[in-house]
Amino acid sequence: MKRITLPCGESVPALGQGTWNLGDAPRLRAGEIASLRRGLDLGLTLVDTAEMYGDGRSEELVGEAIAGRRDEVFLVSKVYPYNASRRAMRRSCEASLRRLRVDTIDLYLLHWPGEVPLAETVEAFEALRREGKIRHWGVSNFDPEGMRELESTPGGAAAQADQVLYNLGRRGIEWDLLPGLRTRGVPVMAYSPLEQARLLRTRPLATFARQHGMTPAQVCIAWLLAQDGVIAIPKTGQRERLEENAGALERPLSAAQLEELDRLLPPPEGPTPLAML
Ligand code: NDP
Repeated sequence: MKRITLPCGESVPALGQGTWNLGDAPRLRAGEIASLRRGLDLGLTLVDTAEMYGDGRSEELVGEAIAGRRDEVFLVSKVYPYNASRRAMRRSCEASLRRLRVDTIDLYLLHWPGEVPLAETVEAFEALRREGKIRHWGVSNFDPEGMRELESTPGGAAAQADQVLYNLGRRGIEWDLLPGLRTRGVPVMAYSPLEQARLLRTRPLATFARQHGMTPAQVCIAWLLAQDGVIAIPKTGQRERLEENAGALERPLSAAQLEELDRLLPPPEGPTPLAML
């Protein structure tokens, strides 16, 4: 498994598991837990969740799935921007810890920029870190300007990741955000790597996949795995799809294949505002 080094020096797998919408449908629950556990077996041990997902149902499901396997997992969760104040963040974090049934979250992210001053949010993260409730913190949906503001905030340079929308059909960050983060050694966590499955149905991708003996999902994931400093977190609640997606690890794209994808699915011609899903 390719690993990505965080600014703190710790490394995490470049392919993890998203969990948005997991835990929402009781009849799918057993299958979703089996899928997450299979992911851990295959080395996809970075698991991404959030207090927002299903109002805590995703965290509860993750807690059940990783029970007895806590040491294998690098657990990522997120706090709502409106809970990013000193007092509310502690409450949110403690509720997440209870749902996840763990003592500490490995990486706690601000879900998107909000109204609470960044300096207070950074202080709140640092207080939780001192107490051992989180080990690291970072941000999500921060554009280049947001990252500059964060870095000029006291303590802000301790952020360990920026989780943003990045996939073969959403390459705008290659103009500004991604090079800036690479320079500072801060990884991008690429969310919606399959564009919530919509990318899989596009003709150029489907054709490329067929010609190269891969599935469209494997192409999307292998392409992200080929990018420096990028962690991909595809979501599936289905074990067979999990295995299919993990198959991307066995099919690294060659330079020629990457060039072909650049032609088929080129980045925009200039910087674009960071999109959010
Ligand atoms: P993804 O791009 O990961 O796509 C997920 C969808 O694709 C699901 O409908 C899934 O269905 C389907 N799928 C997965 N694998 C396959 C496959 N091999 N073939 C066909 N369909 C497949 O979208 P997400 O938006 O879920 O993004 C991934 C994760 O990123 C989230 O789960 C969440 O953890 C995080 N995220 C973070 C955001 C943020 O603001 N920080 C915003 C959005 C996402 P099924 O489950 O039935 O297989």
